Amino acid sequence: MTNFLFCYFKENYDVFITYHLKENGFSILECPELREVIHSNVFFERASAAVKSPYMLKEHCKSKLNLVEPVHHVLRSESGPQMATYSYVPITEVLARYCSHEDIVDEIQANRHMERDRDYLSNFSDGTYFMEHPFFKVNPNALCLHFYEDEFEVTNPIGSKQMKHKLCAFYYTVGNLDNKHQSKLKHVHLALLVRQTFVKHCGLQTVLKPMLGDLKKLERDGITIIINGIEQPLHAAVATFSAVNLSAHMLGGFTMSFNSHRVCRFCMATYTEMKEKFNEDDFVLRSPEAHEYHLKSCTENPEHKVTYGVTGPSPLSELNYFDVTKALPHDIMHDLLEGVIPLVLKLVVCQAHKEKHITIQEINEELQHLAIGQNDKKNRPVQLSERLMQSSGISGSAAQKWCLFRLLPFLMAHRVPPSCSYWDVFLICRDIVDIVTSLKIKREFVFFELACL
Ligand SMILES: [Zn+2]
Repeated sequence: MTNFLFCYFKENYDVFITYHLKENGFSILECPELREVIHSNVFFERASAAVKSPYMLKEHCKSKLNLVEPVHHVLRSESGPQMATYSYVPITEVLARYCSHEDIVDEIQANRHMERDRDYLSNFSDGTYFMEHPFFKVNPNALCLHFYEDEFEVTNPIGSKQMKHKLCAFYYTVGNLDNKHQSKLKHVHLALLVRQTFVKHCGLQTVLKPMLGDLKKLERDGITIIINGIEQPLHAAVATFSAVNLSAHMLGGFTMSFNSHRVCRFCMATYTEMKEKFNEDDFVLRSPEAHEYHLKSCTENPEHKVTYGVTGPSPLSELNYFDVTKALPHDIMHDLLEGVIPLVLKLVVCQAHKEKHITIQEINEELQHLAIGQNDKKNRPVQLSERLMQSSGISGSAAQKWCLFRLLPFLMAHRVPPSCSYWDVFLICRDIVDIVTSLKIKREFVFFELACL
């Protein structure tokens, strides 16, 4: 495979160089030395010789590119025999090598000394949770690790092998870099890869054991990294752990049901109360102290699990500084992009259609002729269904629904009369979505959002 890629690259590279030289009025035929360099295979042969087998490629990556190899851990059934294995890439080793890179060190230093405008929230470290965090308050220069858990199918998701090959992956990024680097793949590290069926059989507690062991070490003792030949201590702790709602509740040890009893990992809201009350003040927020009491109470009487909406201690509670009531962030994609946004879109469009302000067909025509900006081209919204008034919902991916939500005023605002109640709801909802998804917001807007809710 590597040799194939080298050959492919070489062929295209020759053609590319020759073409551009010719375009600029230089024929390589006139220069035998250049022709020889371009047509010579020596460089590529030498380069490909070092990686001509999978083993050599791995050895090359280990010695030259600081590759940290995954460690295979064995999962055993209760009676003892080996049941399965999964892979864990040691976090301490990855961080030690990652943070020894000159550019990463510079970036972390620059971010540390950057003057921050206290009126704005643009980074995790701007919020009160970070400022009052028992670990980061004492270790302000420690690395903030943001984890992310995801599950995905590696085979046809509607085929017969569905679920059998579903994988569960844990990734993390270092929050001490500037925001613009956070989503780049090269700064996202894979920590653990395991089949989902193994998680079900053996439990997260067992699967996460090696990872949590390393994270505890990073909290307690830290590791030593070498910067410019000088040894320096480095501490780190988990700042947040993102996941879809179901996985977040599993990670936090909360009830994994969202249509009865206690459904929220942040407050004590019940499914029924959430439909009747809309202010944060109307609900009791969960706190580490209350959560401790809930767990104790459930140990004494398992029936209290339903009362408090908890299933047991979180697998992450082994960490000294992880607060399950605050560090499992909201699932914006499912709550907003796949939840509130398509619902509000459907209700607003249907109401406009019903009140004869604009029909669904007319909105579709507007959408067809709308010039979409460069950034939204990939997420051009899908046409609205003619059956939207009946059972149908808003079609498309989460990004397409978000795009339609932002573009809706261009499609129909000119037909909506002033002081229109359904349009007011849309505008308030749009303000909230703008705040939630913005990269930088004024601190005071957070209170606006709460007031709107
Ligand atoms: Zn809540």
